[in-house]
Amino acid sequence: MRALRLPGWKSEPELIEVDEPTPGPGQVVVKIGGAGACHSDLHLMHDFEPGAVPWNPPFTLGHENAGWVHALGAGVTGLEVGQPVAVYGPWGCGTCARCRVGVDPYCENTAAAPAPGGGGGLGADGGMADYQLVPDARHLVPLPDGLDPVRAAPLTDAGLTPYHAIRRSWPKLVPGSTAVVIGVGGLGHVGIQILKATTAARVVAVDTRDAALRLAEECGADLALTSGAGTADEIRRFTGGRGADVILDFVGADATLALGVAAARTVGDLTIIGIGGGTLPVGFFSVPYELSIQTTYWGSRPELVEVLDLGARGLVRPKETTYPLEEAVTAYRQMRDGTLDGRAVIVP
Ligand code: NAD
Ligand code: ZN
Ligand code: ZN
Repeated sequence: MRALRLPGWKSEPELIEVDEPTPGPGQVVVKIGGAGACHSDLHLMHDFEPGAVPWNPPFTLGHENAGWVHALGAGVTGLEVGQPVAVYGPWGCGTCARCRVGVDPYCENTAAAPAPGGGGGLGADGGMADYQLVPDARHLVPLPDGLDPVRAAPLTDAGLTPYHAIRRSWPKLVPGSTAVVIGVGGLGHVGIQILKATTAARVVAVDTRDAALRLAEECGADLALTSGAGTADEIRRFTGGRGADVILDFVGADATLALGVAAARTVGDLTIIGIGGGTLPVGFFSVPYELSIQTTYWGSRPELVEVLDLGARGLVRPKETTYPLEEAVTAYRQMRDGTLDGRAVIVP
């Protein structure tokens, strides 16, 4: 079969022929219907130094996957060949306290995980291939009616990651509140839709690209701002001087973190999702009183079920552009150049 492999750090992926996987006991092989291209893959190709994460290339890229059950390993029950499924991407040890409740990103025994702190497409083989080996059937979530694998694939990360970040801030997203989405790319545009579908907050979107701001408005943003020196002031004006209750930074650069602090309301949340390499000095008087600052990593399996429900009901609808496997490298290039809107989904 064909597979898009990352051969090493600081290198471009290669489409090569590899053996088709066969499932061992408890495992499942999925025929891939869609595999989303995430900006984290660009960080893998260009930014990560050896040792930055506890796993290494080579592996097959693609950590946002959905398809159909192709082959079942011994002992797997509750799934049928041909059934459409989403692949829950973070793969922990399966037995620690976090994994037992389906929160694999925060696995506490990563030494026993297929790729410590990672998953398929992040250390272990991912879904940018004809087939993907899923090492534990518990990682598969049957697709609800109304959702096909191409539409479901981006929901497993570009949907799940913002959903998890927004969900933990729900108590602050009451009527009258304001949420800011910084970076309206693959994750950010779905984040705006999730805010609109699950909260009463007003939504301000911030990006450097005009096309991203137009997409933000299509997704329901109440205000779309070009990132610049006056952005925090504009957000303060929009909020009657108070600042935004929840800031979701899908970039994570020095400039966007500083914007987040400057635009945040007291007792607000500043959540860092983007892996842009920025840092933030935090001192008693350098941030608003009781501002909670946190990172988030992906989301839980139960949350993926919730996101898929939003997708199946049309309440969340990622804007996707599809590419054949041969053109996956083009999709990544467009993402890097800022000429891609929404999410690229590779259809093998
Ligand atoms: P993307 O390339 O699709 O979107 C990024 C967006 O940010 C683009 O629209 C770009 O124009 C905008 N942007 C860049 N610099 C900006 C700035 N200074 N101000 C405002 N906007 C700016 O990327 P994506 O796939 O949505 O991923 C976004 C980030 O989230 C990446 O760093 C990725 O690695 C990270 N990520 C984190 C997690 C997690 O679990 N924490 C999961 C997935 C992705
Ligand atoms: Zn990702
Ligand atoms: Zn675990």
